[in-house]
Amino acid sequence: MTTRIPGLHHVTAISGPAQANVTFYTGPLKQRLVKKTVNFDDPGTYHLYYGDPKGSPGTILTFFPFADAGPGRAGPGMASAYAYAVPAADFDATIDRLMEAGVTVPRLTERFGAKVMTLRDPDNAPVELIEDATATDIHGFHSVTLWERDPDRTARLITDVFGYQAVGTETEGGVERLRLKAPGDARANVIDIIRSDAETTARPGAGTIHHIAFRARSQDEQNAWIETLASAGHRTTPVIDRQYFNAIYFREPGGVLFEIATDPPGFAVDEPEATMGSQLMLPPQYEPMRARIEQVLPPIRVAS
Ligand code: ZN
Repeated sequence: MTTRIPGLHHVTAISGPAQANVTFYTGPLKQRLVKKTVNFDDPGTYHLYYGDPKGSPGTILTFFPFADAGPGRAGPGMASAYAYAVPAADFDATIDRLMEAGVTVPRLTERFGAKVMTLRDPDNAPVELIEDATATDIHGFHSVTLWERDPDRTARLITDVFGYQAVGTETEGGVERLRLKAPGDARANVIDIIRSDAETTARPGAGTIHHIAFRARSQDEQNAWIETLASAGHRTTPVIDRQYFNAIYFREPGGVLFEIATDPPGFAVDEPEATMGSQLMLPPQYEPMRARIEQVLPPIRVAS
């Protein structure tokens, strides 16, 4: 078995009302809304996808905006933060730009020698911006943090099965952080696992991460993952058609929902790349219900 995970495909989170979310991520965060569709399991709710202009794997952050979602809380067994890579040369200018845009920049720290800025989105979710010498623009993830009670068993899955390497540990303010990195230079190839002595229980809700998705570069690779994971004792769902990628899901030993998503077909499969995100796109099974769905969904506008 030589297939390795190159990095993350996307991160999916829960938000409150859609417009505040769109305004923040397409405004100060400068992400493109690359797809406006519905939750395939609940077509009365949006599923919003942000990313780089092409909607590349490793840049995609998606939200289920529930207008009446109560606030959630990160804790053990949950992914607790996503971090965008910012070119080192642009880091200070990015802080200035965000402050001019009215974003509070409350915390500036260092992690493994790189500057980290932690913003809060409209649902109070931590959005980290990490200085990254290899980043060429502000689009795309650097890493995701998993909060675990027992980091070792999750780390073993990510190293022994996915092919990542442990590259360092750090302790700050009672939080132990283990860094794992996938070989190669794909975007979003870092996973941090933290463990804290604080007695906290995770509570899903607005401002929390629902799941993280790793990349399979092809359908063949995804099929191979089903077998590889099964022989490592992790039973996945069957392949599920998510229109823009195929997905398999399983819970890692610490409880975080993991997905493996295929790169193809991508976000230009049902509308031209130049205008992606401007129209409400529905999968074929919901097209007959379009009028009703459009009536239920609140109108949203991107920031620019
Ligand atoms: Zn997903």
